[in-house]
Amino acid sequence: MDHHHQGWRAERYFSNRLWIFLARRRCLEERGHRARTLSEWEFTQYVSVGWRRVAGDLYFRLLLHDYDFRLLALGAPAGELYIDAEFDAKVADQCHAIVAAAQRQALATCEVCAQPATRRVTRPRPRTLCHFCWRSDRATAEARGERYANVLLDHFCLPDTRAPAPSEVLAWLDERGWS
Ligand SMILES: [Zn+2]
Repeated sequence: MDHHHQGWRAERYFSNRLWIFLARRRCLEERGHRARTLSEWEFTQYVSVGWRRVAGDLYFRLLLHDYDFRLLALGAPAGELYIDAEFDAKVADQCHAIVAAAQRQALATCEVCAQPATRRVTRPRPRTLCHFCWRSDRATAEARGERYANVLLDHFCLPDTRAPAPSEVLAWLDERGWS
């Protein structure tokens, strides 16, 4: 393998992912951020695999209360479910209560395997993990460093058969000088 281009596959993969992400966002913008223009599958792809059920329930509950609610952002940074949305003033209180309940549910659900979990704040980049995933993550961090543990956890949280292996992702980050 050409040593200088170890990360080419990761480069191609992540540029493609970014392109898809931007295209999705543009598509949502063009439709006035109406969440109902996304399928349940599309909506849940924004969060870690262990939280897709929580996100799917959230999607339907919100649509039942406000069919025209606007989705501005959705994600799972730092082990917490994040959603920025705008609701009809008449039902906004109920919708915010539904969001808060989903966030509490996510904080008790492993991002990887959906088992009962807690947010692991002693981790350099906090994630919500069950006992088993947390122990595996700490063993990985001890053996191969926090950086590798992060890349590996991202790999499990957003599973994709086309994704490059964690070692390829690290080689790509190194080439770009990213930590
Ligand atoms: Zn787990």
